[in-house]
Amino acid sequence: MLECIVTKFGGSSLANDEQFRKVRSILELEPTRRYLVPSAPGKRFREDDKVTDLLYECHAQASEGRSFEETFAKIEERYLSIARGLGLKIHIEDDLEKVRQGIADGLSRDWCASRGEYLCGLLMADYLGWRFLDAADGVVFNGNRTLNDEKTEEKLSAALADGIPTVVPGFYGAMENGEVCTFSRGGSDITGALVARAVQADVYENWTDVSGFLMADPRIVDNPAEISSITYKELRELSHMGASVLHEDAMFPVHRAGIPTNIRNTNKPFHPGTIISKNAPHEVSVPTITGIAGHKGYSVISVEKNMMNSEVGFGRKVLQVLEDAAVPFEHMPTGIDSLCVVVSSKALAPHRDEIIEKIEELVEGSGSVSVNDEMSIIATVGRGMVHNCGTAARLFSAMSRARINVRMIDQGSSELSIIVGVNDSDFEATIRAIYHEFVG
Ligand code: ASP
Repeated sequence: MLECIVTKFGGSSLANDEQFRKVRSILELEPTRRYLVPSAPGKRFREDDKVTDLLYECHAQASEGRSFEETFAKIEERYLSIARGLGLKIHIEDDLEKVRQGIADGLSRDWCASRGEYLCGLLMADYLGWRFLDAADGVVFNGNRTLNDEKTEEKLSAALADGIPTVVPGFYGAMENGEVCTFSRGGSDITGALVARAVQADVYENWTDVSGFLMADPRIVDNPAEISSITYKELRELSHMGASVLHEDAMFPVHRAGIPTNIRNTNKPFHPGTIISKNAPHEVSVPTITGIAGHKGYSVISVEKNMMNSEVGFGRKVLQVLEDAAVPFEHMPTGIDSLCVVVSSKALAPHRDEIIEKIEELVEGSGSVSVNDEMSIIATVGRGMVHNCGTAARLFSAMSRARINVRMIDQGSSELSIIVGVNDSDFEATIRAIYHEFVG
């Protein structure tokens, strides 16, 4: 039996009173679900507004001296209709008025945005009869607006040590001077992970509107299989390549603390979802590949230079040029007298000429520099690949059968992924070919 579960519910799970009811019945199914981290109410239907977006808009309107009343009225209506629909005792009108006043008084953008989660947490605590802990009293930010991990752990675990069921709003915290700061968008996932670590939860449940991760993007592969179990390292590789359900920074606190994350669907509470854990310990058999993800829009800077291999430090100098322009690189396959650096075309664009010029200076007329665009990178990720011979052979045969030309190969140094570069026009076909080879 599990002892303690921390739950985080995303905006679509809290969009109206009906969703609140679903949340309560999920909590009632498992009494060890003792902590809840809410997002702000999200969209009820496709064209609807997210409360957080409305709050940002109010702040922008107020700071430009325009009226924000019309936008604020939409926010008010969202909270009032939830409170009414659930027959809550709390007089949320007073709290809404304080928020309105704060916006009018010119309080910070972060403070305004954070009120979405704050108000939602107040409603939820009232509805459940749970304690409310203001995240400003538990999540600590440094003066430079980054998370103070140590102090947060200290403060949150002290505040939650008594084991009393508590609602902690997501997305924000405060600096030591009391000024409210938010994480980047989607940051309630991080708060949930911090609470899970603080109470040493057995599981961190992240409830959203999908039943976990899929092996490939459903816009490219029809009905892709669901991933039931994935490691944090695999997920990091896949989310870096664009498969996103969870905020990237939400993995670190729970990964380090050895707490698994379970992605669950509020609208399908009995679906087991995806379990993300350190090393997927209870597996009977590991599938060869766990997932495929990729991105279009990369550029390859190819550098050739006579006798490059004997020039110690040449690679560093090339990377230094990129570093000076603050352009991150993704991959760097090398040959004897050549090397390629793969970068995102978007990141390269503003510095393209200057970077090429500087690298040309490094080859000093005894080589060449060229840039090729429109390359996609596709990562095939799987902890099962390490133990299986022939995975690369299968992958490349599948690509060759589909007549796809491989522009770059990089078997990730972790042996957890095989990365291929193909023309942008082959992006979808590559993902389909790999998927069908391994999954069927
Ligand atoms: N409400 C915030 C956002 O929309 C944070 C979150 O939902 O995680 O980004």
